[in-house]
Amino acid sequence: MPRVYDSRKRILVTGGAGFLGSHLIDRLLGQGHEVLCADNLFTGTKRNIEHLHSHPRFEFIRHDVTFPLYVEVDEIYNLACPASPIHYQHDPVQTTKTSVHGAINMLGLAKRLKCRILQASTSEVYGDPSVHPQPESYWGNVNPIGTRSCYDEGKRCAETLFFDYHRQHGLEIKVARIFNTYGPRMHPSDGRVVSNFVIQALKGEPITLYGDGSQTRSFCYVDDLIEGFIRLMATPAEITGPINLGNPVEFTMRELAELVIAETKSKSTMTTRPLPQDDPKQRKPDIALAKKHLGWEPKIGLRDGLKSTVAYFRDLDV
Ligand code: NAD
Ligand code: UDP
Ligand code: UDP
Repeated sequence: MPRVYDSRKRILVTGGAGFLGSHLIDRLLGQGHEVLCADNLFTGTKRNIEHLHSHPRFEFIRHDVTFPLYVEVDEIYNLACPASPIHYQHDPVQTTKTSVHGAINMLGLAKRLKCRILQASTSEVYGDPSVHPQPESYWGNVNPIGTRSCYDEGKRCAETLFFDYHRQHGLEIKVARIFNTYGPRMHPSDGRVVSNFVIQALKGEPITLYGDGSQTRSFCYVDDLIEGFIRLMATPAEITGPINLGNPVEFTMRELAELVIAETKSKSTMTTRPLPQDDPKQRKPDIALAKKHLGWEPKIGLRDGLKSTVAYFRDLDV
């Protein structure tokens, strides 16, 4: 496809060596942009970006966003933050710092450069929701002192900072509230349900259902999510979000386990484990706003998305 040179941008992706960030970078490079990836490799890996090693428009810097960053870019996607409970609870103080200090630094950078900045927020801002499905207008039900709070409250405070920089300094912001997303390059040991179940099924080990497996989640395939990011970043200035991005088709964890077993043709059985603290019972995005402002809705169903995810973990040989 011919490239239009004056539309080429220099784009910073923090957390770019992670699961979502590396897919976003592939997409941005494919559009002809230059990409600077800043990542401290806490949960991300060089493997996710090694195919870009000699790409002329790609640059990697090992950097922790809790420290200031002085670079020159046209746009910022702020994704840096461990995303799975195992990882974000490993060093909870650092998790809050990453969300809060990281947001301040990236907002300070955007303010100096007068550039757009998109925040990867999360459905966790809704906590264990008492409204179902969750619209953006719902304020959430978050435990401020539980084991998930470092992540949930960190992300909530980051949203606050984004909106205050917008109101106080006129910054152009975009806030995406991401619901559970899965696909190739998920970290094999991050304990998230899709990767756990796929790996267990491939190894023929029992599938670990936490609680009775009746809790629900809605799973968005990574390519759909990235399309949502790109569309959100390209919206007019008055569209700030927050906007939910996720797949509204809801499954119980037991149903997910059955799908994974069928897709892998595994002989795995199911076993139960205690439900973690503050584990939300149900979660499903209301995506009316994304449909309206972005013309976006997910296109890839769980069965199809699981095929490429299973193929990835098979090749990874974990
Ligand atoms: P991930 O763990 O694969 O990626 C996060 C990346 O951030 C990693 O590469 C990690 O090394 C990097 N990072 C962590 N702390 C950092 C720091 N202090 N400085 C610089 N880099 C740092 O997770 P992901 O699933 O790709 O998530 C990306 C973003 O999307 C996160 O902000 C997460 O909260 C958000 N999100 C993801 C999901 C999902 O289902 N995957 C859902 C909601 C929100
Ligand atoms: N900052 C940064 N890169 C920049 C500009 C600012 O990392 O190019 C950081 C800076 O360290 C500061 C933070 O962003 O702590 C917030 O910047 P802001 O200008 O909003 O606040 P101030 O510097 O006035 O505290
Ligand atoms: N879960 C499970 N077995 C696992 C891992 C997770 O039953 O091996 C459950 C978990 O308790 C939660 C759901 O799957 O109810 C999604 O968990 P995940 O950590 O992937 O995401 P989050 O809780 O942040 O939505």
